[in-house]
Amino acid sequence: MSAYSSEDVRDVEALAQGIHRITKGNWTVMEVCGGQTHAILKNGIDQLLPPAIRIVHGPGCPVCVTSMEVLDRAMEIASRDDVVLCTYGDMLRVPGTKTDLARIRSQGGKIRVIHSPLDACKVASEELRLGTGRQVVLFAIGFETTAPATAMAVRAAHMKSLPNFSVLVSHVLVPPALQAILSDPDHGIDGILAAGHVCAITGYEAYEGIADQYRTPIAVTGFSPVDILRGMLAVVTELESSKGDTSRHTRVINAYSQVVERCGNVAARRALDEVFECCDQVWRGMGTLPQSGFKLRSKYQALDATERFASETSSIACPALPTIQSHCRAAEVLKGKIRPTQCEAFGKECTPAYPLGAPMVSNEGACAAYYHHQSRNDPDVLGGSSR
Ligand code: SF4
Repeated sequence: MSAYSSEDVRDVEALAQGIHRITKGNWTVMEVCGGQTHAILKNGIDQLLPPAIRIVHGPGCPVCVTSMEVLDRAMEIASRDDVVLCTYGDMLRVPGTKTDLARIRSQGGKIRVIHSPLDACKVASEELRLGTGRQVVLFAIGFETTAPATAMAVRAAHMKSLPNFSVLVSHVLVPPALQAILSDPDHGIDGILAAGHVCAITGYEAYEGIADQYRTPIAVTGFSPVDILRGMLAVVTELESSKGDTSRHTRVINAYSQVVERCGNVAARRALDEVFECCDQVWRGMGTLPQSGFKLRSKYQALDATERFASETSSIACPALPTIQSHCRAAEVLKGKIRPTQCEAFGKECTPAYPLGAPMVSNEGACAAYYHHQSRNDPDVLGGSSR
């Protein structure tokens, strides 16, 4: 905790003591945000909680849930001589069916790592100015948090009539994923910490019906140790106080009210609504979830990379991955069924240097979080109880 102020440390201690004081039952709480996963592990927040509280990690890493199909499509497009694919750095080493973008790049594929979708518009303008004749494709992944920036890039390209810009859209939405997880009768989850940055955009009205339908309290939660413990305290308080009371509505508690409002960011929601409409989406490890993704509205259809490159073939050979992905239990990790250290390949065949699955590649992946931060005394690693 040395990076935090003494006030933060005092707040952490007070919140942890508060959780210990009220906890009577055994509760499993899922967080749904890769940033929170890493903050929990890095700061040892799981160690501050009573043993009766078990944290599991949901599908909160955008790279990890991007489907194999769309990743393969991105690689197919990136393999063309006349294309520059713009993507986030985390995507480079995520395994597709046969290979990954890093290998495509090593074979001559023109892949640019960007920090913002608008960077892809700049790349397209530059390619036009230089007269290279190349198409520029933005590989747009992520949750509701990053989708508004993609919407801005689409609008900018449309307004400038950039003829060489298109977007491969693979944005996903959190509420349908929560619904899918909680509709599994064996989900075993008592409460949920919802990602504050997603709710900052969307608000949390969509979570209220889910909390009530599945009788699972949800706390909108931030990312610092204090924020996470505050969210945990809110969920545990709700769980303890509603025990045995079936008449009571299960609530969403906004434990990140300094940032999140119930209706979210109206301007960002308007931008999303103008550019995208909801569609069924394939999630890696979770299958096709109804109305869980975005696609471009018809006004922007001409910028859809899937259509633009529908009948084209690649011109760069795709070197195969040497790894065996069948060991990977990412699907169970993403649904909170197991923790990463319960995967037999964790830290052996699968490491950040030689990842078998996306959760070990991404900065937000749960397996990478455990690899980098978890104590070697973790009972799961030693083959003991998973608590
Ligand atoms: S440790 Fe590796 S193989 Fe196991 S679930 Fe995580 S990414 Fe997959």
